[in-house]
Amino acid sequence: MKIFTMTKTVAKNLAQGPATLMYPQRERAYTPITRGRIENDIDRCIFCGLCARRCPTYAIVVGKEDKEWQIDRLRCCTCNLCVEVCPVKCLSMENHYAPSVIARQMAIQRRKLTVSSPEEGSP
Ligand code: SF4
Ligand code: SF4
Repeated sequence: MKIFTMTKTVAKNLAQGPATLMYPQRERAYTPITRGRIENDIDRCIFCGLCARRCPTYAIVVGKEDKEWQIDRLRCCTCNLCVEVCPVKCLSMENHYAPSVIARQMAIQRRKLTVSSPEEGSP
């Protein structure tokens, strides 16, 4: 009986072709709920540090004084907890993965709030 099951599976696989994609000629289409990477709309961030405190892998560091938010993408396990706890909802889970890196430092990404001084833009 098992031989029939196996033959059926082999025939199905032969008919379907390979499951792998010819990347980069054919790119994978991600679903809307794919957990790719965390992004921060830094202009809305209030640097409360809640995301860093709740992150189970310590992937986020928040600099309150220098208004800098950083994430170590190699530490992030895309659990989405930071997105859920952010009080102003400036964090989001993008459905595309972060680009691959060749050194650990390259996986650390910083977002810094640039506040223009009151003199800037005035006549
Ligand atoms: S929880 Fe949200 S508002 Fe607070 S520091 Fe993190 S990203 Fe910014
Ligand atoms: S998704 Fe999870 S692991 Fe990644 S930064 Fe947010 S809380 Fe940390």
